[in-house]
Amino acid sequence: MIAEVIKANELTKADPVFGQTSFNDHEQIVFCHDKDTGLKAIIGIHNTVLGPALGGTRMWNYANEWEALNDVLRLSRGMTYKSAISGLNLGGGKAVIIGDSKTDKTPEMMTRFGQFIHSLSGKYITAEDVGTTTPDMDIIREVTPHVTGISEAKGGSGNPSPVTAYGVYMGMKAAAKHQFGTDKLEGKKVLVQGTGHVGETLISYLAKEGAIVEIADINQAKMEEVAAKYGAKIYTGEDIYGADVDIYAPCALGATVNDETIERLKARVIAGAANNQLANEEIHGRKLQEKGILYAPDFLINAGGIINVYAEIVGYDKAEAMKRTENIYNTTLEILTFADAHGITTQNAAMSLAQKRIDDKKKETAK
Ligand code: NAD
Repeated sequence: MIAEVIKANELTKADPVFGQTSFNDHEQIVFCHDKDTGLKAIIGIHNTVLGPALGGTRMWNYANEWEALNDVLRLSRGMTYKSAISGLNLGGGKAVIIGDSKTDKTPEMMTRFGQFIHSLSGKYITAEDVGTTTPDMDIIREVTPHVTGISEAKGGSGNPSPVTAYGVYMGMKAAAKHQFGTDKLEGKKVLVQGTGHVGETLISYLAKEGAIVEIADINQAKMEEVAAKYGAKIYTGEDIYGADVDIYAPCALGATVNDETIERLKARVIAGAANNQLANEEIHGRKLQEKGILYAPDFLINAGGIINVYAEIVGYDKAEAMKRTENIYNTTLEILTFADAHGITTQNAAMSLAQKRIDDKKKETAK
């Protein structure tokens, strides 16, 4: 999954840090090493204008350090825009730990990593991501307060995925309203790719509303379980991108909207949870626009998780987090309308509104 996304990004080996395509104005990058525990981590702090840089820690068996660096830079930049567009007083950051989370991770390594986070005095706040879990965050919490996504038993907000799914559902409804004239999904054919933590909850909302849900996952057992539970149909066609559906919801991997798949897409709306769905934001955003396929920007509609962990910082209130997540509906409509009015892609519309919030805050603090 990560390899595909990385392939879509250019690696600039001559200028490994400042020259990276994804470097993009990062404020600070911290390399963390501890020989005793085998920790090799990189913390990317992209922007702290709106607040401390919050973003999860990904542990992944990267093929090499270039991949790890590129991944953290790309992800931390993404967090800046996700928080900005969601109206949160947070900046963008992310961390990666190089290694196999199943075999290399130890409590000692997590403790050491927590100490590195603590040394940043709250400029970076971590959370879970691929390869890290709530129990890992609990270990980090022992050595620093700058961590979210800790267990409910320890006063945290627990698993953010159901909140993410609710936000994706809201964003999908807004996109349907813009494209089809109604936000009612009853009778609409929706293909959900990925029946994991977010996908399954999204499917439950869709099934409840009477949408015709088709599903695809490489995990056959999980897919069958979800199909039986919600009355969803397992997609049996050869080419999932060419499926005859109204809405395509990518909830598995990034970069599935690319040169090859766009040509085959029949869906009129793309709205899903996966990060970095467009292999190339500019090229593929424009191609979708030309084809009249409405793309609900991923970083906008999958922000429920960050909204949920933000609530942990300001004093966790589940109802408040859900209310804020529900507002993704209004923000999505606003951005889709803005894109139309200015003749720009929905991706660029979302990016420019997020950037405007950062610029406004910068001007305000400079006064
Ligand atoms: P998950 O690991 O629980 O589920 C992903 C599912 O996708 C798995 O069931 C896996 O088998 C399936 N999958 C993998 N490769 C596939 C393929 N080629 N075709 C079909 N299915 C495939 O992950 P999740 O937490 O549900 O997250 C889903 C996506 O949403 C990820 O891209 C994640 O980065 C993104 N996201 C998640 C959250 C969150 O709160 N969990 C927040 C923001 C973004």
